[in-house]
Amino acid sequence: MKSVGNGAQSKALGAVQMETSTDGRFVTLKTDGNDVGRFYAIWLRHNCQCPGCRQRFSGQKLVRPADLATSYSVQWAGVDPDDRLVYIDWNEEDHRSEFPVSFLRHSVHTPAERRRVTSTPSGGVGWLPTVNFEEILQPPGRLRWLQMIAEVGVVLLRGVPTDAAMVRLVAELVAPVQHTIYGETWDVLADPKPINVAYSTAELDFHMDLSYYESPPGIQFLHCVRFDDCVKGGESVFVDAWYVAEMLRATYPEYFNTLTRVPATFQKIHFDREYPVYMRYFNRSPILKTFGKENIGLHHDVNCYTCRPRPKSLRVGLIIRPIAIA
Ligand SMILES: [Zn+2]
Repeated sequence: MKSVGNGAQSKALGAVQMETSTDGRFVTLKTDGNDVGRFYAIWLRHNCQCPGCRQRFSGQKLVRPADLATSYSVQWAGVDPDDRLVYIDWNEEDHRSEFPVSFLRHSVHTPAERRRVTSTPSGGVGWLPTVNFEEILQPPGRLRWLQMIAEVGVVLLRGVPTDAAMVRLVAELVAPVQHTIYGETWDVLADPKPINVAYSTAELDFHMDLSYYESPPGIQFLHCVRFDDCVKGGESVFVDAWYVAEMLRATYPEYFNTLTRVPATFQKIHFDREYPVYMRYFNRSPILKTFGKENIGLHHDVNCYTCRPRPKSLRVGLIIRPIAIA
């Protein structure tokens, strides 16, 4: 085993090097002389990957945080001969920690790394990414589709057969379907006595579906199976809510602050339906959440798009028609 002692000096260790700060509070991982990332001792001790601290196979923690010291400093750091593992001894505890170099690499969250996640260029107003159904049946096309959903938030999938069962098939290419008070899938049809405004011919303004859920659906699928020639309207419209929130912050900062501060009540109370429902979240959460100085999360949707600056497309409207049946 090759080793590096305390102090700011470093010694070449093949491709991988560990450089310990003078006070031992952090180490810097380098490969081929280039900085990969800086790791604080307290974080490293809590995330020790040795068999005593992490269960093999499950990868879950076995050590209780309350049993660890309140602070840590590096006594000694070393790299194994084939540059796969990093070992660290601590001044505060008789324990040799070990970390796969790959684990440390994946734990780096530098500003450059965060920017890499948001690499999709903005398409501007009216831009809507499009994918063909055949593409998502193969892994490369499916990955491209999912990346666009994650980064842009909305994708038009063309060429899905008009069989009503297809929406479920497409959804299950991503993940299991979530049960809601509407069942697993449902039809949006105009009803003379609608139990929901969506089941009528009324024009719907911008809205978020199921935002009152404790765990709202992460992705929603709308499948156009019929569009008669006699229909007037029928445009589907989307808005980039993150951009709207940024506009609000810039234009009316006081109103923006109110929405980040005052909790809102969400409710769905409706007994006269197939699945009677009483859902009420009183003063649960503000409409907007801010993360640090820059990033905004929208209520109940933070799991999907948290901390991700949005492209500046403001509104997209289009008529979605079913494909012709051959
Ligand atoms: Zn350990």
